[in-house]
Amino acid sequence: MTQAVLYGVTNRYALAISSLKPAPGLDRIGVFFSMVEGSEDQELVFSFSKAGLIQAFLDNEEYPVEIMSYATDFNKRNKGLVDESVLQKVVVTIIGLGSGGSSIVLDLIRCGVTHLTLIEFDTVSLSNLCRSVYTLADVGRKKTEAILDKALSINPCVRLTLIDEDVLEMDIEKLEEIIGQSDLIIEATDSPQTKILINGRACHSTPVIYPAVYEEGKGGDIFFSFPGFPCYECVFHSVIKHMLENTDLEWDYTTGQAKPMPALIADIQVVCARTVKLALAILTGDQENSFLSKVIKPGCTLLLIGNEKGVSVFPEAFGEAWVETHIDPECSCQTLE
Ligand SMILES: [Zn+2]
Repeated sequence: MTQAVLYGVTNRYALAISSLKPAPGLDRIGVFFSMVEGSEDQELVFSFSKAGLIQAFLDNEEYPVEIMSYATDFNKRNKGLVDESVLQKVVVTIIGLGSGGSSIVLDLIRCGVTHLTLIEFDTVSLSNLCRSVYTLADVGRKKTEAILDKALSINPCVRLTLIDEDVLEMDIEKLEEIIGQSDLIIEATDSPQTKILINGRACHSTPVIYPAVYEEGKGGDIFFSFPGFPCYECVFHSVIKHMLENTDLEWDYTTGQAKPMPALIADIQVVCARTVKLALAILTGDQENSFLSKVIKPGCTLLLIGNEKGVSVFPEAFGEAWVETHIDPECSCQTLE
Protein backbone atom coordinates (compact mmCIF):
# COMPACT_ATOMS: atom_id res chain seq x y z
CA MET A 1 0.00 0.00 0.00
CA THR A 2 1.28 3.47 -0.84
CA GLN A 3 2.26 5.72 1.97
CA ALA A 4 1.20 9.34 2.18
CA VAL A 5 2.90 11.87 4.35
CA LEU A 6 0.66 14.36 6.06
CA TYR A 7 2.08 17.76 6.70
CA GLY A 8 0.46 20.22 9.05
CA VAL A 9 -3.13 20.30 10.11
CA THR A 10 -4.78 23.58 10.96
CA ASN A 11 -8.40 24.46 11.27
CA ARG A 12 -8.40 25.34 7.58
CA TYR A 13 -6.32 22.85 5.68
CA ALA A 14 -4.78 19.46 5.90
CA LEU A 15 -1.96 19.07 3.49
CA ALA A 16 -0.70 15.69 2.36
CA ILE A 17 2.35 15.13 0.29
CA SER A 18 2.33 11.82 -1.47
CA SER A 19 5.38 9.96 -2.52
CA LEU A 20 6.96 12.08 -5.19
CA LYS A 21 7.48 8.96 -7.26
CA PRO A 22 4.54 7.34 -9.08
CA ALA A 23 3.19 4.62 -6.82
CA PRO A 24 0.53 1.92 -7.07
CA GLY A 25 -2.86 3.33 -6.20
CA LEU A 26 -1.93 6.86 -7.11
CA ASP A 27 -2.42 8.09 -10.62
CA ARG A 28 -1.26 11.58 -9.62
CA ILE A 29 1.87 12.51 -7.78
CA GLY A 30 2.77 15.62 -5.89
CA VAL A 31 0.93 17.64 -3.31
CA PHE A 32 -2.66 16.98 -2.28
CA PHE A 33 -4.85 19.37 -0.36
CA SER A 34 -7.97 18.58 1.53
CA MET A 35 -10.23 20.68 3.69
CA VAL A 36 -10.56 19.27 7.19
CA GLU A 37 -13.46 17.19 8.48
CA GLY A 38 -13.45 14.52 5.87
CA SER A 39 -14.18 16.54 2.77
CA GLU A 40 -12.74 15.39 -0.47
CA ASP A 41 -10.29 16.64 -2.98
CA GLN A 42 -8.79 14.59 -5.77
CA GLU A 43 -8.38 10.96 -4.79
CA LEU A 44 -7.65 11.40 -1.10
CA VAL A 45 -10.22 11.71 1.68
CA PHE A 46 -9.18 12.54 5.22
CA SER A 47 -11.09 11.82 8.38
CA PHE A 48 -10.32 13.20 11.80
CA SER A 49 -11.34 11.65 15.08
CA LYS A 50 -11.78 13.55 18.33
CA ALA A 51 -8.69 11.82 19.66
CA GLY A 52 -6.72 13.53 16.93
CA LEU A 53 -6.32 10.34 14.91
CA ILE A 54 -6.07 11.10 11.24
CA GLN A 55 -6.97 8.63 8.55
CA ALA A 56 -6.81 8.98 4.83
CA PHE A 57 -8.82 6.99 2.31
CA LEU A 58 -8.29 6.34 -1.33
CA ASP A 59 -11.37 4.92 -3.07
CA ASN A 60 -12.74 3.89 0.34
CA GLU A 61 -9.61 1.92 1.11
CA GLU A 62 -7.60 3.10 4.11
CA TYR A 63 -4.37 4.76 3.22
CA PRO A 64 -1.49 4.82 5.74
CA VAL A 65 -0.63 8.31 6.90
CA GLU A 66 2.57 9.30 8.54
CA ILE A 67 2.13 12.45 10.55
CA MET A 68 5.08 14.74 10.50
CA SER A 69 5.50 17.93 12.41
CA TYR A 70 5.14 20.93 10.19
CA ALA A 71 7.03 23.03 12.71
CA THR A 72 10.15 20.89 12.50
CA ASP A 73 10.04 19.66 8.93
CA PHE A 74 9.01 22.80 7.14
CA ASN A 75 12.11 24.74 8.09
CA LYS A 76 14.56 21.86 7.72
CA ARG A 77 16.54 23.47 4.93
CA ASN A 78 16.64 26.85 6.66
CA LYS A 79 18.02 25.17 9.78
CA GLY A 80 20.80 27.02 11.57
CA LEU A 81 20.66 29.93 9.14
CA VAL A 82 17.92 31.92 10.77
CA ASP A 83 16.27 31.67 14.19
CA GLU A 84 12.87 30.16 13.41
CA SER A 85 11.55 30.55 16.97
CA VAL A 86 11.98 34.32 16.61
CA LEU A 87 10.40 34.39 13.16
CA GLN A 88 7.33 32.57 14.51
CA LYS A 89 6.76 35.31 17.10
CA VAL A 90 7.26 38.50 15.09
CA VAL A 91 4.70 40.41 13.04
CA VAL A 92 5.75 41.84 9.69
CA THR A 93 3.53 44.35 7.91
CA ILE A 94 3.79 44.67 4.14
CA ILE A 95 2.22 47.68 2.48
CA GLY A 96 1.63 47.06 -1.22
CA LEU A 97 1.27 43.62 -2.85
CA GLY A 98 2.50 44.50 -6.32
CA SER A 99 5.48 42.91 -8.05
CA GLY A 100 7.77 43.58 -5.10
CA GLY A 101 5.47 43.13 -2.10
CA SER A 102 3.79 39.93 -3.33
CA SER A 103 7.12 38.21 -3.83
CA ILE A 104 8.56 39.49 -0.54
CA VAL A 105 5.55 38.11 1.40
CA LEU A 106 5.90 34.59 0.02
CA ASP A 107 9.68 34.56 0.45
CA LEU A 108 9.35 35.66 4.09
CA ILE A 109 6.87 32.82 4.65
CA ARG A 110 9.26 30.32 3.08
CA CYS A 111 11.98 31.63 5.41
CA GLY A 112 9.78 30.98 8.47
CA VAL A 113 7.85 34.20 9.17
CA THR A 114 4.32 33.17 10.17
CA HIS A 115 2.49 36.37 11.21
CA LEU A 116 1.98 39.03 8.58
CA THR A 117 -0.31 42.00 8.11
CA LEU A 118 -0.91 42.77 4.44
CA ILE A 119 -2.29 46.10 3.26
CA GLU A 120 -3.43 46.44 -0.35
CA PHE A 121 -6.62 47.71 -1.97
CA ASP A 122 -5.92 46.65 -5.56
CA THR A 123 -7.08 43.66 -7.59
CA VAL A 124 -4.97 41.42 -9.81
CA SER A 125 -4.91 42.38 -13.47
CA LEU A 126 -3.52 40.57 -16.47
CA SER A 127 -0.61 43.03 -16.58
CA ASN A 128 0.56 41.82 -13.13
CA LEU A 129 1.29 38.30 -14.38
CA CYS A 130 4.59 38.97 -16.12
CA ARG A 131 6.38 40.09 -12.98
CA SER A 132 4.68 38.93 -9.81
CA VAL A 133 3.55 35.76 -8.03
CA TYR A 134 -0.01 36.03 -9.39
CA THR A 135 -1.38 33.61 -11.97
CA LEU A 136 -4.20 33.66 -14.50
CA ALA A 137 -6.63 32.22 -11.94
CA ASP A 138 -6.05 35.30 -9.74
CA VAL A 139 -7.05 37.90 -12.34
CA GLY A 140 -9.94 39.98 -10.97
CA ARG A 141 -9.40 38.81 -7.39
CA LYS A 142 -8.31 41.04 -4.54
CA LYS A 143 -4.53 40.83 -4.25
CA THR A 144 -4.87 40.21 -0.50
CA GLU A 145 -7.08 37.16 -1.06
CA ALA A 146 -4.92 35.77 -3.86
CA ILE A 147 -1.87 36.03 -1.60
CA LEU A 148 -3.72 34.35 1.28
CA ASP A 149 -4.31 31.23 -0.82
CA LYS A 150 -0.70 31.14 -1.97
CA ALA A 151 0.58 31.68 1.57
CA LEU A 152 -1.56 28.83 2.97
CA SER A 153 -0.44 26.51 0.22
CA ILE A 154 3.17 27.10 1.31
CA ASN A 155 2.60 27.00 5.07
CA PRO A 156 -0.91 26.18 6.32
CA CYS A 157 0.09 27.50 9.75
CA VAL A 158 0.60 31.14 8.70
CA ARG A 159 -1.60 33.81 10.23
CA LEU A 160 -2.30 36.69 7.90
CA THR A 161 -4.26 39.83 8.67
CA LEU A 162 -5.62 41.17 5.39
CA ILE A 163 -6.45 44.85 5.11
CA ASP A 164 -8.15 45.68 1.86
CA GLU A 165 -7.68 49.43 2.08
CA ASP A 166 -5.63 52.24 0.64
CA VAL A 167 -3.23 53.10 3.43
CA LEU A 168 -3.55 56.79 2.50
CA GLU A 169 -7.25 56.68 3.29
CA MET A 170 -6.97 54.57 6.40
CA ASP A 171 -8.13 55.84 9.75
CA ILE A 172 -4.98 57.17 11.42
CA GLU A 173 -5.67 55.41 14.74
CA LYS A 174 -6.02 52.12 12.89
CA LEU A 175 -2.74 52.73 11.07
CA GLU A 176 -0.98 53.57 14.34
CA GLU A 177 -2.32 50.40 15.91
CA ILE A 178 -0.96 48.36 12.99
CA ILE A 179 2.42 50.09 13.28
CA GLY A 180 2.44 49.53 17.05
CA GLN A 181 1.82 45.79 16.58
CA SER A 182 4.50 45.39 13.90
CA ASP A 183 8.09 44.33 14.52
CA LEU A 184 8.98 45.41 11.00
CA ILE A 185 7.23 47.23 8.17
CA ILE A 186 8.08 46.84 4.50
CA GLU A 187 6.81 49.77 2.48
CA ALA A 188 6.51 48.23 -0.98
CA THR A 189 4.37 50.78 -2.80
CA ASP A 190 5.68 53.23 -5.37
CA SER A 191 3.73 56.09 -3.82
CA PRO A 192 5.81 58.93 -2.33
CA GLN A 193 2.78 60.00 -0.28
CA THR A 194 2.62 56.55 1.34
CA LYS A 195 6.33 56.61 2.10
CA ILE A 196 5.98 60.04 3.76
CA LEU A 197 2.97 58.88 5.78
CA ILE A 198 4.64 55.68 7.01
CA ASN A 199 7.91 57.44 7.74
CA GLY A 200 6.13 60.13 9.76
CA ARG A 201 4.18 57.61 11.82
CA ALA A 202 6.80 54.85 12.27
CA CYS A 203 10.28 56.37 12.24
CA HIS A 204 10.49 56.75 16.04
CA SER A 205 9.01 53.37 16.91
CA THR A 206 9.31 50.63 14.27
CA PRO A 207 11.95 49.57 11.73
CA VAL A 208 10.83 50.17 8.14
CA ILE A 209 12.38 48.92 4.89
CA TYR A 210 11.73 50.89 1.71
CA PRO A 211 12.68 48.90 -1.41
CA ALA A 212 12.60 50.79 -4.72
CA VAL A 213 13.08 49.75 -8.33
CA TYR A 214 14.31 52.39 -10.78
CA GLU A 215 12.95 53.17 -14.21
CA GLU A 216 12.98 50.13 -16.51
CA GLY A 217 14.42 48.05 -13.66
CA LYS A 218 17.95 49.18 -14.47
CA GLY A 219 18.67 49.47 -10.79
CA GLY A 220 17.14 50.10 -7.43
CA ASP A 221 17.81 50.93 -3.84
CA ILE A 222 16.80 49.73 -0.42
CA PHE A 223 16.66 52.12 2.49
CA PHE A 224 15.88 51.06 6.03
CA SER A 225 15.03 53.23 8.98
CA PHE A 226 15.46 52.33 12.61
CA PRO A 227 14.46 54.40 15.66
CA GLY A 228 17.40 56.69 16.41
CA PHE A 229 18.82 56.40 12.88
CA PRO A 230 18.17 58.64 9.84
CA CYS A 231 14.54 58.53 8.71
CA TYR A 232 13.36 58.24 5.10
CA GLU A 233 12.88 62.00 4.87
CA CYS A 234 16.37 62.72 6.32
CA VAL A 235 17.89 60.92 3.35
CA PHE A 236 15.33 61.37 0.57
CA HIS A 237 13.86 64.86 1.11
CA SER A 238 15.06 66.09 -2.27
CA VAL A 239 13.89 62.90 -4.01
CA ILE A 240 10.48 63.17 -2.34
CA LYS A 241 10.20 66.78 -3.47
CA HIS A 242 11.13 65.78 -7.00
CA MET A 243 8.69 62.86 -7.04
CA LEU A 244 5.84 65.01 -5.76
CA GLU A 245 6.55 67.70 -8.34
CA ASN A 246 7.39 65.32 -11.16
CA THR A 247 4.95 65.74 -13.97
CA ASP A 248 6.65 63.16 -16.23
CA LEU A 249 4.87 60.30 -14.49
CA GLU A 250 1.85 58.87 -16.24
CA TRP A 251 -1.15 58.81 -13.95
CA ASP A 252 -3.94 56.33 -13.83
CA TYR A 253 -6.93 58.55 -13.13
CA THR A 254 -9.14 55.63 -12.10
CA THR A 255 -6.94 54.82 -9.10
CA GLY A 256 -5.18 58.18 -8.58
CA GLN A 257 -1.85 56.32 -8.60
CA ALA A 258 1.15 56.72 -10.86
CA LYS A 259 1.08 54.08 -13.59
CA PRO A 260 3.61 51.32 -12.97
CA MET A 261 6.62 51.57 -15.22
CA PRO A 262 7.88 48.64 -17.26
CA ALA A 263 10.54 46.58 -15.47
CA LEU A 264 11.53 42.94 -15.83
CA ILE A 265 10.91 40.45 -13.05
CA ALA A 266 14.61 39.52 -13.29
CA ASP A 267 15.53 43.04 -12.15
CA ILE A 268 12.75 43.41 -9.58
CA GLN A 269 13.69 40.09 -7.97
CA VAL A 270 17.20 41.34 -7.16
CA VAL A 271 15.70 44.10 -5.01
CA CYS A 272 13.16 41.67 -3.48
CA ALA A 273 15.82 39.11 -2.54
CA ARG A 274 17.98 41.73 -0.83
CA THR A 275 14.93 43.13 0.98
CA VAL A 276 14.03 39.69 2.36
CA LYS A 277 17.57 39.04 3.58
CA LEU A 278 17.70 42.47 5.21
CA ALA A 279 14.29 41.88 6.82
CA LEU A 280 15.46 38.57 8.30
CA ALA A 281 18.65 40.23 9.53
CA ILE A 282 16.70 43.00 11.28
CA LEU A 283 14.10 40.62 12.76
CA THR A 284 16.75 38.34 14.27
CA GLY A 285 19.30 41.11 14.88
CA ASP A 286 19.49 40.64 18.66
CA GLN A 287 20.00 36.86 18.48
CA GLU A 288 23.32 35.23 19.20
CA ASN A 289 23.87 33.85 15.70
CA SER A 290 22.50 36.94 13.93
CA PHE A 291 23.96 37.75 10.52
CA LEU A 292 22.95 41.42 10.78
CA SER A 293 26.54 42.66 11.06
CA LYS A 294 27.51 40.47 8.07
CA VAL A 295 24.82 42.07 5.93
CA ILE A 296 24.86 45.78 6.72
CA LYS A 297 27.73 48.23 6.91
CA PRO A 298 28.08 50.44 10.02
CA GLY A 299 26.80 53.97 9.44
CA CYS A 300 24.98 52.92 6.28
CA THR A 301 21.23 52.45 5.87
CA LEU A 302 20.98 52.76 2.09
CA LEU A 303 21.92 50.02 -0.37
CA LEU A 304 22.32 50.93 -4.03
CA ILE A 305 21.77 48.23 -6.65
CA GLY A 306 22.82 48.45 -10.29
CA ASN A 307 21.31 45.91 -12.64
CA GLU A 308 22.98 47.42 -15.70
CA LYS A 309 26.24 49.09 -16.49
CA GLY A 310 26.40 52.81 -15.74
CA VAL A 311 23.49 52.89 -13.27
CA SER A 312 24.01 54.78 -9.98
CA VAL A 313 27.67 54.66 -9.04
CA PHE A 314 28.39 51.42 -10.87
CA PRO A 315 30.65 51.31 -13.92
CA GLU A 316 29.75 47.63 -14.45
CA ALA A 317 26.48 45.69 -14.29
CA PHE A 318 25.27 43.85 -11.17
CA GLY A 319 26.91 46.20 -8.68
CA GLU A 320 25.86 46.85 -5.09
CA ALA A 321 27.13 49.33 -2.52
CA TRP A 322 26.12 50.59 0.91
CA VAL A 323 25.93 54.34 1.32
CA GLU A 324 26.57 56.25 4.54
CA THR A 325 23.52 58.13 5.77
CA HIS A 326 23.11 60.91 8.33
CA ILE A 327 20.33 62.42 10.39
CA ASP A 328 19.30 65.75 8.88
CA PRO A 329 19.03 68.23 11.78
CA GLU A 330 16.45 70.16 9.73
CA CYS A 331 14.26 67.09 9.17
CA SER A 332 10.78 66.95 10.68
CA CYS A 333 11.79 63.79 12.58
CA GLN A 334 14.10 65.96 14.68
CA THR A 335 11.47 68.50 15.60
CA LEU A 336 8.24 66.45 15.73
CA GLU A 337 8.00 63.61 18.24
ZN1 LIG B 1 14.35 62.53 9.46
